[in-house]
Amino acid sequence: MSLRIAFIGVGNMASAIIGGLIASGYDAGKICGTSLDVTTHKALEDKFGMRMYADNSSAVANADVVFLSVKPQQMGAVIADFVENVREDQLFISVAAGIEVGSLEKWLQKPVSVVRCMPNTPALVGCGMTGLIANDNTTAEQRQWVSNVFDSFGAHVWVSEEQQMHTVTALSGSAPAYFFRFIEAMIEAGKAQGLDAESCRKLATYSMLGAAKMATELEEDIAQLRINITSPKGTTEQALIALEEKGIDAMVRSAVDACARRSQELA
Ligand code: NAD
Repeated sequence: MSLRIAFIGVGNMASAIIGGLIASGYDAGKICGTSLDVTTHKALEDKFGMRMYADNSSAVANADVVFLSVKPQQMGAVIADFVENVREDQLFISVAAGIEVGSLEKWLQKPVSVVRCMPNTPALVGCGMTGLIANDNTTAEQRQWVSNVFDSFGAHVWVSEEQQMHTVTALSGSAPAYFFRFIEAMIEAGKAQGLDAESCRKLATYSMLGAAKMATELEEDIAQLRINITSPKGTTEQALIALEEKGIDAMVRSAVDACARRSQELA
């Protein structure tokens, strides 16, 4: 039996999750939501076949699982708005960046199951990566249900300590931007050699997509995948030597560390 789901705040991120659920065959009749922008309600109902409520309390009252998908700074006030309708048998899943499980438990007031997640923007194209952490009330069945939801538009990793969400932020939450930056540099290098920008973009992006698909779908060690295509004294080897000479490991390490540090400061 599919659980009844309410999305409090149907914006970009909630739409990506709802899209993933519907694409994986979830019964749209079991999904409802709210949004301050009532002009979007009809379009959301038509697009997903879900029901939009005018108020958060009605949506929460009619749900087994409640996604909290408003902006982080709105979260406390939004929960206060419907807290009277919270039931102990409900599962709450927050997508808000930086809001810890302890804060959600405090605002929700009852001993409910709480999951905090950190998705990333490729969720919008059905290829998101999500880090998850659950409180002790969350059952194994609830964890499995949550895993299935996030796998419907990508993949997931559970962590056991709140601190580890900073590493999740550094390795997946913010990471799409690092790869965009790498592609930008590739395009500039290709243009400098005389190729047009459109061809450079296609060459660089499809190569990254293909490499990412091989890295996710094949069992081989990532280093082995690299070695497999690096012939001694060949072209690839020359490129990799140049990257090593410029200190690629130190550069990536300092980016990942800086991201995790900033995530800690913002928490
Ligand atoms: P968004 O602005 O697109 O969506 C927020 C939605 O909340 C809007 O539809 C707004 O109308 C609604 N809302 C605001 N106040 C409300 C209230 N009182 N009652 C009901 N609805 C209300 O924002 P988004 O980009 O979807 O981000 C939502 C959450 O997702 C944030 O907490 C953010 O940290 C998290 N997140 C987003 C991304 C991303 O890539 N967009 C990535 C990771 C995490």
